[in-house]
Amino acid sequence: MTLPYAEPLVALAPQPRVIPEPPRAGEPGGAPCGLCDWLADFEHSDHEKPIWYDDNWALCRATGVTIPGVVWLASRAHHDSFADLPDHLLHSYAPVVARIERAILGLGDIARVHVYRWGDGSAHFHIWFFPRPLGMLEAKREMLALWANVLPEAPKEAVANAEAKIAQALAETN
Ligand SMILES: [Zn+2]
Repeated sequence: MTLPYAEPLVALAPQPRVIPEPPRAGEPGGAPCGLCDWLADFEHSDHEKPIWYDDNWALCRATGVTIPGVVWLASRAHHDSFADLPDHLLHSYAPVVARIERAILGLGDIARVHVYRWGDGSAHFHIWFFPRPLGMLEAKREMLALWANVLPEAPKEAVANAEAKIAQALAETN
């Protein structure tokens, strides 16, 4: 694997721990949840709709995309993690993820689709899909997220085209 940075890299010392941690948006004491506002509103307005959605999930567009096909899936309600997902979401999770992965692979020239669950951002359970470009061996494993951070932003038309193809593939398998 190759880091997307030049040497020498200097390891930093860990920071002092911040306890209690600040609330995330949507948690008590945190900022209002913009995702809730959008999810409650898009079906009844002319606001942009998710790439795909059902009663439980919404597949969302990312901003500043460097690799067309990067998307993220969020639960429509607040759930912290797998540990507190209700049964009906747990049961629909794997089929939904599989459909999205197939849709992304259908874009072509993708070696594999990475699925990341960080959990430190939104109060909605959410996972990221990162397509690793075919042949981009330096971006295997965790290096793909780092490369995606430093690559130039992809042309907006290419990003929109990938999202439209993903939307079409998911609509065809509804
Ligand atoms: Zn919310």
